[in-house]
Amino acid sequence: MSGRVLVVNSGSSSLKYQVIDAADGTALAVGLVERIGGAGGGRITHTVDGEAHRSDVDVPDHGAAMAAMTAAFAEHGPDLDAVGLVAVGHRVVQGGARFGHSVEIDDDALAIIEELSDLAPLHNPANAAGIRVAREQFPDLPHVAVFDTAFHLTMPEVAHTYAIDREVAEQHRIRRYGFHGTSHAYVSREAARMLGKAPEDVNVIVMHLGNGASACAVRGGISVDTSMGLTPLEGLVMGTRSGDIDPAVVFHLSRTAGMSTDEIDDLLNKRSGVLGLSGRQDMRDLVEAAQAGDEAASLALEIYCYRLRKYVGAYTAALGRVDAIVFTAGIGENSPEVRAGALAGLDVLGIELDDAANEARSREARDIATPGSRVRVLVVPTNEELEIARQSIEVIGG
Ligand code: AMP
Repeated sequence: MSGRVLVVNSGSSSLKYQVIDAADGTALAVGLVERIGGAGGGRITHTVDGEAHRSDVDVPDHGAAMAAMTAAFAEHGPDLDAVGLVAVGHRVVQGGARFGHSVEIDDDALAIIEELSDLAPLHNPANAAGIRVAREQFPDLPHVAVFDTAFHLTMPEVAHTYAIDREVAEQHRIRRYGFHGTSHAYVSREAARMLGKAPEDVNVIVMHLGNGASACAVRGGISVDTSMGLTPLEGLVMGTRSGDIDPAVVFHLSRTAGMSTDEIDDLLNKRSGVLGLSGRQDMRDLVEAAQAGDEAASLALEIYCYRLRKYVGAYTAALGRVDAIVFTAGIGENSPEVRAGALAGLDVLGIELDDAANEARSREARDIATPGSRVRVLVVPTNEELEIARQSIEVIGG
């Protein structure tokens, strides 16, 4: 699989981009436009050959952000006309029950992505805005949408159906969709490669632990369950999200505290998780504070790891046989404390962590289980941009 792809991740107030070589994963340029639509103006950081070029830019909307990006390429390189782009790959958060695969974007696909905004009001409108301006900027290149949800569309009905009135669920498209699918797909395939097996022959539990976090049970290369649900709020404890909670907490807050739906949404999505528990969102700060004896930080860390442990147990039961537990993303790749806490006491499931291997710092994919551990424990750096580039090329038949 070869070719260079411009990968675009368009958020409500930021635009991230990379030019990436799908053959070897090299990033020729990496950039970020921040504070789109912000009152004080925006900023672009464009990194080429390890050198970051920063400047203030006026970016009232996504069109201006895209223009700032092309101007940065023109000024600092590489030359977009000479680099040999074969496609533009767009990250799209919600593909609904409609998109089980990446697709080349035409007017119809874009209309469906926009229509799915009611399921992902914070994300899909911004993703669609990025697609619209990129198609104007690069009219001669094919544009591909790669969905966060697509990898999970293979989940069996028993895993994706909520136990609520079926008519209500159907009418409002309420089901488990799951997110981080691009990462779970990439990491589970890499894990199979490390185990020396075909993805079809491997069962793994992937723990994507970044600021947002989700677990995924992957059987033979296929997602069979995942912890995020209709939205990214369900499941694991995250930086600012509660994860699993009794839904009646919402009614209780509404009835007894008089909180509005938006206020409760804000509480559970932005002021909960380890931030709500300890006042610290960043896992590095949390671990440091816990080690310094801060009780709230210790408890937050324990709750975080206990939730992970419960999901390992649940997905072991769902899969039957587990070949590996795989840690990825900012926390999964870098926090030995979280990995150890998540797997503590799980030797009953055949999971034995090698303490020295767990503590060793590395940016490489690695196996950190004891030689005798029946279930392997892997750390695999994720690369969602590379996965988007590869899927884009696959879609255009490259
Ligand atoms: P991501 O969303 O994948 O970028 O991950 C962000 C999270 O990774 C933040 O909560 C960071 O605290 C965490 N993180 C990054 N580096 C480390 C580290 N060395 N140790 C612990 N957590 C880390």
